[in-house]
Amino acid sequence: MSHTKQKKRVTPASSETLLTLLETLPGALFLLDDNATIVYANANAQTMTRKDVCGKPLWRGAPQLVSTSLYQAVQKAKQTREPTEVEYISPVTNSRLHVSLSPTNEGLAIFFQEYLEPQSPQNAFSQNEHMYRDLLESFSDGVTILTPQGLVLDVNQRPLADAHLQREEMIGKPFADSPAWSHDPAAQQQLRAAIARASRGETVRFEARIHPRSDLSLDILMTITSHRGANQQVEYLICAGRDITERKYIEDELRTLVDAIPHFVWIARPDGHVIYNNQRLIDYQAMSREQVEGDGWIAAVHPDDRQRVWDVWQAAIQRGVSYEVEHRMQDGINGAYRWFLVRGVPQRNAEGTILHWIGTCTDIDKQKQAEQRIKANEQNFRVLAETVPQLVWTTRPDGLSDYFNQRFRDYTHATWEQLYGYGWSQFLHPDDSERTLVARAHAFRTGTPYEVAYRFKEGQTGVYRWFLARAMPVRDATGQIIKWFGTITDIDDQKRTEQRLKASEENLRVLAETMPQFVWTTRPDGHLDYCNQRYCEYTHATFEQLQGYGWRQFLHPEDIERSLALRHHTLETGEPFEREHRLRNGQTGEYRWFLARAMPVRNEAGQIVKWFGTCTDIEEQKRTEQALRQSQERIRALIDSNIIGITSNEGDEEVLVDANDAFLHMTGYTREDLNSRTLTRMKFTPPEHAPLFQRVLQEVATHGQHTPIEAELVCKDGSRLPVLAGAVTFQGHPRQMIGFVLDNSARKELEQRKDDFISMASHELRNPLTALKMQTSLLRRQLAKQGLQASAPALSSMETQINKVTRLVEELLDVSKIQAGRLEYRQETVDLDALLRETIDTMQQTHPSHRILVRGAVQASLMADRDRLGQVFTNLISNAIKYSPGAETVEIDLEATLETVTIRVHDHGLGIPREQRDKIFERFYRATGPKQKAIPGLGMGLYIVAEIVKRHGGTITVESAVGKGSIFTVTLPKKRDTLD
Ligand code: ADP
Repeated sequence: MSHTKQKKRVTPASSETLLTLLETLPGALFLLDDNATIVYANANAQTMTRKDVCGKPLWRGAPQLVSTSLYQAVQKAKQTREPTEVEYISPVTNSRLHVSLSPTNEGLAIFFQEYLEPQSPQNAFSQNEHMYRDLLESFSDGVTILTPQGLVLDVNQRPLADAHLQREEMIGKPFADSPAWSHDPAAQQQLRAAIARASRGETVRFEARIHPRSDLSLDILMTITSHRGANQQVEYLICAGRDITERKYIEDELRTLVDAIPHFVWIARPDGHVIYNNQRLIDYQAMSREQVEGDGWIAAVHPDDRQRVWDVWQAAIQRGVSYEVEHRMQDGINGAYRWFLVRGVPQRNAEGTILHWIGTCTDIDKQKQAEQRIKANEQNFRVLAETVPQLVWTTRPDGLSDYFNQRFRDYTHATWEQLYGYGWSQFLHPDDSERTLVARAHAFRTGTPYEVAYRFKEGQTGVYRWFLARAMPVRDATGQIIKWFGTITDIDDQKRTEQRLKASEENLRVLAETMPQFVWTTRPDGHLDYCNQRYCEYTHATFEQLQGYGWRQFLHPEDIERSLALRHHTLETGEPFEREHRLRNGQTGEYRWFLARAMPVRNEAGQIVKWFGTCTDIEEQKRTEQALRQSQERIRALIDSNIIGITSNEGDEEVLVDANDAFLHMTGYTREDLNSRTLTRMKFTPPEHAPLFQRVLQEVATHGQHTPIEAELVCKDGSRLPVLAGAVTFQGHPRQMIGFVLDNSARKELEQRKDDFISMASHELRNPLTALKMQTSLLRRQLAKQGLQASAPALSSMETQINKVTRLVEELLDVSKIQAGRLEYRQETVDLDALLRETIDTMQQTHPSHRILVRGAVQASLMADRDRLGQVFTNLISNAIKYSPGAETVEIDLEATLETVTIRVHDHGLGIPREQRDKIFERFYRATGPKQKAIPGLGMGLYIVAEIVKRHGGTITVESAVGKGSIFTVTLPKKRDTLD
């Protein structure tokens, strides 16, 4: 296009002239358009460039002429639109070139003049020029001067030599198109970008691999700087390419190595800008090298870790200290995060200046996870440790305790710092401290769990409580102890209970030793573990011989099997054990019966912890039982013998519940009648016996038995059977009686006959006696009339004897009458004092041997039978005299109350044995002592006396002391309506 323009402006005529002129010019002339393309070159110019250059850019068309100075001048002329000049040495011909540049309408006219003569060294210009060239060539680096567009203006020998190129072959062409760079499009692109940036004034540095020729590749570090003109405009660019092939080689080697190692490796500049990441790291992050470089790597860091990592990294950079941080880094392929330990170390030069940071990232994910698991476990442990009711602690393998749960701290009232290490041991009781620490040290040394009880101080109160400490080692996979976990359990209550138990056990032992039984204890399985001394003594064995099951040898062979079977059963069921068996006396070889008893002792959980047993000697009891059995057998024999009637009554109505055949036979009842349980006492007793039976029952109630009575039984047919009966209460129950009944009818009949005989005899005797008495008094009167006094004493003696017999017969008659209930009484008012006086007077006259002393008076008159009462006193006084042969007095005491009168007859005679005192009031009874027997009598007096007193509503009792005397006391009521 510019070419067309140019053609239009130049007229053929003038152009002809002009061209000729130009062609003849001594120098070389180039006309350039605005784009620095050669539009015209004169003949000299053609010669100089040695080719047809028209249409080509100046820089490429005339490389022999190109220099930085020229380029600068061209630029200047273009900008200023002013002519300018420049002089320089052609790098090709080494000739001096003087260049005049004139802006034209179309572009620029450049006129070169070549001076071939050598330069005077003094010439300043020449000096500069040469220096420039020498300098350029002195660089070991390849240096290329470029236009801001990237065209090569100048180049030193190094790149040309590497590429086997002539200068001309490079000058004026885009640097990026040179073979070294065009071989690799990436490198070419990199260079173009760098040139573009440099042309904007930046200094650009980069590494690249170039290929100056097919058989050569070089690693170069390119540095492109710009040169600015006076107006600050970038005039040209200087590219310095340093050959770093060797370093690169080493680096590559290293890098291969670094890439091969399983670690991630990175390198950063002193300012922290990451300049290198090894392949593994890049592969992991799945980012490009460029993305990772600089600060790009932070993107791969887990968001939660980012700030922290960044802060640590910045701090490390600032302070120039090693950098170490753990963080999660994302796996670029699957998006998962893994934990890494990232370390960076600053590399310094000799002066200490940081050259760069070299770092590694080590995958610690597994470790971290394990750690987290441990942490989680630890968390769990802590939660557990804080919730359990014990005091919990952990200790390092070296014995320093490093954890105490809240409860521990609360109890000791101490802080963690106070407890840490061995601090806790200050709370041990001084008496337990050494023992505990020794046990603990031993455990830590041997790695065996330990358990020790000690007193531990409550921090606030200072009170010691008993604790049970337990500790277990915790080992890692290799078996190494990594920790000790321990608990301390409050066992104070338990301990105290134990102590109490011990004390009570001690008490028990003392008790056991003092008890009259054998005392023993066994383990839950029956193994005897204690027995008292008494047991040992009896068996004549040591405890060692008895313990366990040794005691069994002393069991009677006949008892062994059943005793052991029962024991076995109770051990299994926990039921109390109770059995009678015989044990051998170890010394005599005799067996005695024992009652063995055992009770299980249970703990709070109900488990049997012990058996507590005793053996009680029941030999006597056994014998008694046997005796009882024998006597029972005898009784049975007696009952079954039916010699006497035997009955058994029960209950309030005394129902006959059992009777032997003899009884049934006596009464006519059948066994069926008996079994009907309707035979009450009422049915058997005649109504008039009711008072008698009342008395009998009273006696049974108080004495457990009653003296046999004579009574009548009402038989089934209503007839009456005289019996002799007695009863005892059965086993102490007054409502259960065993009675015996003897048929008394034969004796009764005999008695009756005797009574009848006495009655008849006394009647028969009375009549002749009365006749005899009358005859005697008649005889006395006749003899007195006849004055025959000599016979008087004989007659008196006769009369006395007759009176005696008469009295005897009277008494016999009285007894018969009493027996028949026919003794008659008169009723009259009797002055008792007068009667007594009269009686005593008479007695005193007839019995001068004793003085009868009367004390007191009764001063009472009674409704009574005067003669009968006189008979009472006479009888008592005569007995008193008769049975106190050696005594001098008989005393009579009289007393009266409002209701009664009392007459006591007191003698100092023989006295009456206790057992006979009741009997003397019975018919014909006489005391049995030899002295008594020597005194004549028939045993009727007191019988009659008692009857008369009774009939007067009174009582008669006797007190007596054998050898000292007796007192008979008669008490009579003063007033009575009628006589009984
Ligand atoms: P006896 O005709 O035998 O005296 P009693 O009926 O008067 O008959 O007395 C019965 C018995 O009581 C006597 O045999 C006598 O042993 C004893 N006895 C009576 N009174 C006394 C008395 N005062 N001192 C000692 N024994 C007496």
